[in-house]
Amino acid sequence: MSKLMAIDLDGTLLNHQNRISAENIEAIKKAQKDGIEIVVATGRAYFDVKALFEGTEIETWIIAANGATIHTPSGELYQSTPIDQPKALEILQWLEEEGYYYEVFSQKAILTPQNARELLAIEMDRVVSANPEVNLEELQEAAETQYSQSGFQFISSYKEIQSTNVEVYNILAFTFHNEKWKRGWDHFKDERELTLVSSAVHNFELEHKDASKGNALTKVANELGVPLSETVAVGDSLNDLSMLKIAGKSVAMGNAHPEVKEVCDEMTLRNIEHGVAHLIEKIRTN
Ligand code: CA
Repeated sequence: MSKLMAIDLDGTLLNHQNRISAENIEAIKKAQKDGIEIVVATGRAYFDVKALFEGTEIETWIIAANGATIHTPSGELYQSTPIDQPKALEILQWLEEEGYYYEVFSQKAILTPQNARELLAIEMDRVVSANPEVNLEELQEAAETQYSQSGFQFISSYKEIQSTNVEVYNILAFTFHNEKWKRGWDHFKDERELTLVSSAVHNFELEHKDASKGNALTKVANELGVPLSETVAVGDSLNDLSMLKIAGKSVAMGNAHPEVKEVCDEMTLRNIEHGVAHLIEKIRTN
């Protein structure tokens, strides 16, 4: 029996326009009416998630910043696991010196350097002119998804964070250069204090080592007294693996990364086919 369902957002609950379809909204409401606890689990920032759900009248537990924050359905911060500030500054210094577009998820805003978007536009031009086979539209869509988040605040440099009490929940680096992506990934992959994940082809994300969707899901399930064996998790990307591996039932989206499909018990339809609604219907009628 499924009493708790953890749902990823991008590539899962959201469609290509970064919206939640009417079909998915209805399905979630029905599930909640049936007494199934819905938990949103995303790499996005909490306030960005709130903006996406505005007008839906849906309130859920929200695991954001890849597990670095957990909010209750009424909007209280239940727990946060920020990166230690000296470590965060060290990461940001490296990213800035190496010319990466980056975002810092904090309590109230997504901090990003003033010149970051310009940097990304230049990168896009270079990649497209050097690789004619690359689909420009796809890159533009990926950049648009980044920029469509709610709550950006522009900074001149990471040094602005140094003198503040900003809690750094998640650092996201984004690049269109495959080699640059690999260089960044390799630079951070052996960091013991950090979790390194990727939620989409062009990014990698860093959090505190104890922050993951899987750890956060365990905490929420414990709080609600639901055994993990009675949970379902659904997702599409590698940053979902930590929760897919511990949930009682793991479900891959039809559009999921091959590695995700491989570890999951089941597969549902694609995000653009309302795969989450399809899954909920199946669970409710079982
Ligand atoms: Ca996703």
